[in-house]
Amino acid sequence: VQQNDPHITLITPTAPMSPATHGGRAKCLQRLVRLELPVPVTVALSFDAVHGLAAGDWLDMEQMLTPFGEDQLLCVRPSSEDPDWGGPGAILNIGMNDVQLARLSAEIGAEAASKLYLKFIQSYSTHVARLDPDIFDDLDTKDADAVSDFLEAYESEAEEPFPQSRSEQLIGVLRSMARAWEGTTARLLRQAKGAPADAGLGLVIQAMALGVGHGESGSGVLQLVDGGTGVPQITGRYMSQSQGRDALKSGAAAMFLQNDARGPSLEEKLPDAFAKLTEHAALMRAKLREEMQCEFTLENGEIRILDGVRVQRSARAAVRIAVALAEDKIISREEAVMRVEPRALNELLHRQVDSTAERDVIGTGIAASPGAATGKIVFTAAEAQACDARGEACILVRRETNPEDIRGMHAAVAALTERGGMTSHAAVIGRGLGLPCVVGATSMRFQVNKRRIVAPDGRVFHEGDVITVDGTNGQVLAGQPKMMEAALDDAFQVLMSWADESRDIGVRANADTSADARTALTFQAEGIGLCRTEHMFFEADQLIAMREVIFANAPADRSVALQALLPMQRDMFVDLFEIMQGRPVCIRLFDPPLHEFLPTDRAGLRDLAESLNLPLSDVTRRVQALGEYNPMLGLRGVRLGITVPEILDMQARAIFEATLDASKTSDPVVPEIMIPLVSAKREVELVKTRIDAVAAAVRTERGRDFDYRLGVMVETPRAALRAEDIAPHCSFFSFGTNDLTQMTYGLSRDDAGRFMSTYVQQGVFPEDPFHTLDQEGVGELLRVGAERGRSAQPKLTLSVCGEHGGSPESIAFCREIGLDYVSCSPFRVPVARLAAAQLAI
Ligand code: PEP
Ligand code: MG
Repeated sequence: VQQNDPHITLITPTAPMSPATHGGRAKCLQRLVRLELPVPVTVALSFDAVHGLAAGDWLDMEQMLTPFGEDQLLCVRPSSEDPDWGGPGAILNIGMNDVQLARLSAEIGAEAASKLYLKFIQSYSTHVARLDPDIFDDLDTKDADAVSDFLEAYESEAEEPFPQSRSEQLIGVLRSMARAWEGTTARLLRQAKGAPADAGLGLVIQAMALGVGHGESGSGVLQLVDGGTGVPQITGRYMSQSQGRDALKSGAAAMFLQNDARGPSLEEKLPDAFAKLTEHAALMRAKLREEMQCEFTLENGEIRILDGVRVQRSARAAVRIAVALAEDKIISREEAVMRVEPRALNELLHRQVDSTAERDVIGTGIAASPGAATGKIVFTAAEAQACDARGEACILVRRETNPEDIRGMHAAVAALTERGGMTSHAAVIGRGLGLPCVVGATSMRFQVNKRRIVAPDGRVFHEGDVITVDGTNGQVLAGQPKMMEAALDDAFQVLMSWADESRDIGVRANADTSADARTALTFQAEGIGLCRTEHMFFEADQLIAMREVIFANAPADRSVALQALLPMQRDMFVDLFEIMQGRPVCIRLFDPPLHEFLPTDRAGLRDLAESLNLPLSDVTRRVQALGEYNPMLGLRGVRLGITVPEILDMQARAIFEATLDASKTSDPVVPEIMIPLVSAKREVELVKTRIDAVAAAVRTERGRDFDYRLGVMVETPRAALRAEDIAPHCSFFSFGTNDLTQMTYGLSRDDAGRFMSTYVQQGVFPEDPFHTLDQEGVGELLRVGAERGRSAQPKLTLSVCGEHGGSPESIAFCREIGLDYVSCSPFRVPVARLAAAQLAI
């Protein structure tokens, strides 16, 4: 008794098959068959069968061919587990031979029939016999003898006649596709798309719907939404007397589907078929629970559905499609939330280079702040401001940025630096402002003195030349490619509100200024998780006053300068509290690496001398005296608070006075005060004593009470290890994973850009640890810090406020170790909200 080969399956509603055994296309076709759509007879070969074919096994031809009529032409298409992994191209019209040519000539005309034969000979000879495709170049397909010319060309090159038997042709096609899949190039390509090394390929053999012949015959594709925007809109192309994807290739000859001003349409020509097709597509959408592109053929007006493919889409379309499917009750809200890749939201939040635009890449660096912008090159903050005043878009190009460049960054549409990494000044400020930014672009030469940058290929770009910074993928492009606008539309808002319904870890924003806070609120951050107060001092007036504080030799001078700063600080805190409407605001005490406030060149020193009314020599000497070998590990953070406590007194006073002022007009504010760079319990005790004293003084002066919470920023390994000593003095810990990463690795966050890509390429680090939290090392310290902190203080609120707070993988880790919230740049808040929701679903 002949045993049926279980690896050869006629697709019926009940045949056992899954994407994991027969591939996504086979499974999809089975679903279409179940929907009783007019799918031509199809036989599916399993991964095992195809693997065997590549190794030289035979298949039971009879079993494979029985479902098809004897004269039936066939096509073979790939069916990989995930359609995105690709596969060899389809081969059509298998079975064409001299006999079929005669038969079809009578049926559909000699011209149409020979066209099919010629096409088949060509694709067979290239893909199966692996002959040089140009052997047919000199032959005229219109010639009356074209077929015999082609057959002869084949025979002389292949040294055997063109196979006439359908089964021989078919097995040749199947085997060549199976082998193509196992080739090295194909394997590398699909592995780059995330396929496992041993990913299988299935094949489907389908009865050919000819698309050429009598009446209205042709082929096309149809979908119900626009893949770029996700807006409902019947889109696609159709071409009479065509096969496969011809309609998509041959622009002008193709026809639109629906009646509009663009040209002749299928709707006009064949209204019934058009209506039926849209019905089929709607059924596919409802039952396959996805927007599908429907591949169809008309045979004398009769519809055949050959395939359904998930509609290719931009990120904004993905959001709109997911929301619409849930609103139509086709999928649940949770599923809609799961269907959008969190990082893809960046495409909605910022202007981007259009995905179809040509990219003339002239440099690459670290993608430090997403979005893209085009403008003229400028090399200083002052020029940026001048450009901005003239209404011209400009790109601030610097070796690296420092506080004086803030104004330039405000005025520019993007920033590009030679040095720095994910947590460098330019990167942090860029993300805060939502300003596209590429840092560490070491592939280019920055000849700032000559006012030019040089691309690796030698092209030179001068001041005033137009370039584009693409901070989404770290590229610098020449000129002005086509852009796509940001799209914070209704669908985005709806999806985010659904995400929040599922989310179980909080998301706050890192916000330093009122503009940041407004952005944070727009993106519905639950509060501010980190206000870096030193960034407030980067505004002109404050910068001068702050420098006076830093430069003061005598306490009396310092106190005058601090008095000048107090009202400015207070006003800024009032602003933040009012904007955040009673949501928590966590203010970090002054944490400057002091060098960030000092001028670096002679002109800067002269300006400073002028504004401080001091001789240049004094200023120069003092700057030198304040210089540190290693400022990031020097007099900063709480160390400054302990050695120059007047600064923290002033800040605490500004915070408390602002608390009382803002509580008059909005919900009562409970400020959170955070001490940076702590490494010892005693630091916290000392600071706490001073802050409590200021609070008591303000309460007495104002005759009003208020609450506040004091916490510690855990950003030194020692603070994490000694969390048990430190926690009893505070009500929260916030892990500053930027510094914690820097100190755990002993890796300068400002210099790592120089070698990070080499390190990642050579697999020393799996990824840039300033970008994605190093769960094994830095993560261990987080885990230890959280456990030890909570064991001493069970009510301790725990969070992360380093850049990792916005990275989906890192959020997963934070949630796993029981943190209460993450805090990230305002523009990353939506990404974090969505990523967090997906973890909880
Ligand atoms: C940190 O170190 O993680 C942090 C948030 O502080 P900053 O980046 O300001 O040093
Ligand atoms: Mg820090």
